[in-house]
Amino acid sequence: MFKGVAVSPGVAIGVVHRVESVFGPAEPEYLAAGADPGAEISRFEQAVQRSAEELDKTIEKVATEVGAAEAEIFRSHLTVLQDATLLQQVKQKIRDERLTATSALHEVVQAYAAAFARLEHDHFRERLADIRDVIARIIGHLQEPDRSLPTEPTLSGEYDPSANGTTEPVVLVANEILPSQAMSLGHLPLAGIVTETGGSTSHAAILSRSRGIPAVSGCVGVTSALRNGEVIIVDGREGVVLVRPDAETLAAYRKIQREFVHIKDRLIRNRDEPAASRDGVRVELLANINTLSDAKAAVQVGATGVGLYRTEYLFITHPDVPNEEEQYQAYKAVVETAPNRSVTIRTLDLGGDKTVPYLGHRHEPNPFMGWRSIRLISEHPRLFETQVRAILRAGAHGKVSILFPMITTVDELKRVRQMVDGMKAELAAARVPFGRDVQFGVMIEVPAAAVCIDSILRDVDFISIGSNDLIQYLVAADRDNPKVAHLCDPLGPAILRVLKMILDACSKTGTPVTVCGEMAGQPRCVLVLFGMGLTRFSMSPAFVPTIKALLARVSTAEAERYAHHVLQAKTADEIRQYLNERLRDVSRDFEFLEIH
Ligand code: PEP
Ligand code: MG
Repeated sequence: MFKGVAVSPGVAIGVVHRVESVFGPAEPEYLAAGADPGAEISRFEQAVQRSAEELDKTIEKVATEVGAAEAEIFRSHLTVLQDATLLQQVKQKIRDERLTATSALHEVVQAYAAAFARLEHDHFRERLADIRDVIARIIGHLQEPDRSLPTEPTLSGEYDPSANGTTEPVVLVANEILPSQAMSLGHLPLAGIVTETGGSTSHAAILSRSRGIPAVSGCVGVTSALRNGEVIIVDGREGVVLVRPDAETLAAYRKIQREFVHIKDRLIRNRDEPAASRDGVRVELLANINTLSDAKAAVQVGATGVGLYRTEYLFITHPDVPNEEEQYQAYKAVVETAPNRSVTIRTLDLGGDKTVPYLGHRHEPNPFMGWRSIRLISEHPRLFETQVRAILRAGAHGKVSILFPMITTVDELKRVRQMVDGMKAELAAARVPFGRDVQFGVMIEVPAAAVCIDSILRDVDFISIGSNDLIQYLVAADRDNPKVAHLCDPLGPAILRVLKMILDACSKTGTPVTVCGEMAGQPRCVLVLFGMGLTRFSMSPAFVPTIKALLARVSTAEAERYAHHVLQAKTADEIRQYLNERLRDVSRDFEFLEIH
């Protein structure tokens, strides 16, 4: 048994499929008997050729859209492609060891990684990152030789359920899953995910949750302890992974699994009912989305709009960098699909655990405290202006709001507001249609902004509380680090007091406020937030039916009483226990669906 961090509720039972990283399978893959290694080598050469052509185009586009210095990064990728030794090593492995091209590439990059690990110098680490990037690109071409538009490497190509020789559902086991890889998970018949790294609000975790895939992170040693094809149970509520279970354990977990599915199926029937508390106070249950297909999911579960559209995935999964027109088309499609055509579009929130190669993100000692999010604007004003123009233009097609993440000071806020006004004036002067009533808001996720909330509220139309970041910064514990995950607790008394302070300030000024961090989809937290006066919750679409059913069974007076009680409490455990009892009073179902 492995004990990790519960990141996505539900129970999965399936067979292990290990993935060491995006760059290849954990175990070597050989050419079929009788297959010609020469043919595999020419397939490899073609993929290299296509990657080079693709890089040429990328260099040109990044130079226009971002800058010449950023384009240099891809020029260095081109030199990796021209590295005769590296190419030779791959070919040799195909010829002599009869490895597939993908597997040979993987082995070569592993050898480089091992050699570079001995050299303690940033230059080598960066060089390795370049090599990995290039290799991922070649693998992409090996997997999809005919693709016209290059895409980011995904897990899909490496993943072949039939290769397991079984029709059992598959549980992906990996050291880590990058946000860009996690994007492709939704299209795979994955039953569960287990990783060694990551915390409950890591972006990859948020993505598995939004796909409704049970997941556990922080299971140290799990990748080396398991073999492909072994049966495994993932309990995403308790954060437990059971390996090679006996018949009795399997039967017990199958029962829990059935119950979970049954409750979910029953809850989803409320999709067309309005969201309100038992005494009729209306609430907005909005969806957090990353892609167009998430916007469709938002409609299916009965969300009333999109409360947070994380646009960075458009950038992460783009082969180079999306220009204004591409962004406009993507945002417009989301607006036209979203429930009530209502979408809050967040500007680029890169850095931390989400990076793109062209912004020159390299190794920072504290990436979450470093050069991330809106802080990139001074160096890349054009990138942000382009995005704001695209968002404003998409505003002509629905009810669009623009949201700036990680605002820390009033100066920063004034600067972005001025920029938005400037872009509006430009679009108006050029007679380009745009949404004149696009609302302007900022995320409150840095404690400094929370403390000065009164000053912030003077300059915004609305705010959205990013509790994932607000919590990690308040408790000084990295949201991605499983070792300190216990501190990132949304039910901590300090967190609840700060939230209360922000909500009170908004209520005084009548400023609309949403909570869009993960806690907005967690039953216990919702009881408290509603009791503190919050009526706008934005969450992974999968949680909308649960939260709607929960609020329909709670009155405002009851929730206020709960909030009042927990605000007096001194520890998170005390608060959790109290709220568990309240949930059980409402219905055992809600406690069952919670992460424990
Ligand atoms: C948050 O920080 O709570 C949030 C919603 O943004 P993200 O998780 O994308 O950082
Ligand atoms: Mg955030």
